[in-house]
Amino acid sequence: MDFVKELILHITFILFPAFLYQTVWLSKPMKSSPILNKWLVLILSGLSSILCALYPLYLWGMVTTDYQLIPLFTATLYAGPVAGIAVLVILLVYLLFFSGGDCFLITVLSMPLYLLLPIFLSGNWGRLKYSSKLLLTILMGTVKVLVFHIILFFTGFAGLAQINFSEHYWIIFFEEWSLFVFGLLIMVYAIEYISQNALYRLRIIKSEKLAIASELAASVAHEVRNPLTVVRGFIQLMGQEAKEINPKNIEYTDLVLSELDRAQEIITDYLNLARQQYFEKEKLNLTELLVEVSKIMTSYANYKAVTIETHIAENLYVEGDASRLKQVFLNLVKNAIEAVSLSEGLVLIKAYASREFIRVRIIDNGIGMSSEQIARLGEPYFTLKEKGTGLGLTVTFSIIEQHEGTIRYQSELNKGTSTTVSIPIYSKAKD
Ligand code: ADP
Ligand code: MG
Repeated sequence: MDFVKELILHITFILFPAFLYQTVWLSKPMKSSPILNKWLVLILSGLSSILCALYPLYLWGMVTTDYQLIPLFTATLYAGPVAGIAVLVILLVYLLFFSGGDCFLITVLSMPLYLLLPIFLSGNWGRLKYSSKLLLTILMGTVKVLVFHIILFFTGFAGLAQINFSEHYWIIFFEEWSLFVFGLLIMVYAIEYISQNALYRLRIIKSEKLAIASELAASVAHEVRNPLTVVRGFIQLMGQEAKEINPKNIEYTDLVLSELDRAQEIITDYLNLARQQYFEKEKLNLTELLVEVSKIMTSYANYKAVTIETHIAENLYVEGDASRLKQVFLNLVKNAIEAVSLSEGLVLIKAYASREFIRVRIIDNGIGMSSEQIARLGEPYFTLKEKGTGLGLTVTFSIIEQHEGTIRYQSELNKGTSTTVSIPIYSKAKD
């Protein structure tokens, strides 16, 4: 029974950094996806591995389960090799000063060996599927135990060549393997579970904001639009007569009309937000759509003294809703035009097929964005413009998502921005 008690204690030791990390760091209110706090990972993993080393858990009174390696492995996988090695150093310093023992040299030499595979895997770890992560975790655990036994073999079972060791060798080996793999799996599972939860929480906050915005949109926009149209009509009528009374009046009516147009635009943004749910997908010639978008935007660009250049490949087909996608590219090109300064402004629209995707890149030489700004793109009402609504990209992102596409921003302050939209190519199989 003592063994079970100790095992539970050890599992608590290895799990405690993950849960403390969540409580201390991930539960803070966040605007964008959680950033990794390497220092916290380091401190918590270091503590946890020291705790495991403090009360080693022995099988048959001989072979330790080496749970202190688990925080090392996970720190390496989730926070990178540097973090892993730093935790290793913390552990070794602790062992050197407070534990020592006959096997210290073997421990010092073997631990970096165990870390080789996690370091090798850490580069791609974040991109792996969940199931691959679990399989690789089992592999890492197995390799660790094998390496340990090879070392044991070559060191002549130092200190372990006691009673019954060879007799029960395979049982001990199996127990050791299963306990280590089990501990590692639990830890990876906990980390994945916690980070998924943090992401979901963020998504829920975002979509709640969106829901409120679209509800407001639906109710207000409709009501306001009609009176505006009427007002616009009458102002135009009045304008002609007013001009005869005082030539200055034409300036005023123009001003009123342009402000009315702006109000219309804002309302359109809100209505688009509310209408997001309705889609009609069909085979769609994206080439034609993009040419049309660039034509529509040319007058706006001219007005802002910006040149639009296009490099659009022929016959790009996607499956999508024409009016929604048109809105996406209108929004993006409009943002690009609004970002460039008045002189030598250039907006480049490129479109081409690349493997299973059509990529549309909109490149401008405008004011650019910082990485904090990029992280906030798509958040309802996020705008840096005096007259912006901050809804354009909210709608854009959600339409692209509905088309199973992605959007990526690369930007440098005062240099410009490149926006890449990728949408799956239309496959003939569907014809
Ligand atoms: P709005 O255009 O109404 O401000 P958007 O959702 O379209 O709202 O854009 C949000 C913000 O993102 C903009 O206010 C702007 O600061 C930033 N942004 C978008 N595209 C670009 C770009 N190409 N270059 C620089 N900033 C951009
Ligand atoms: Mg915009």
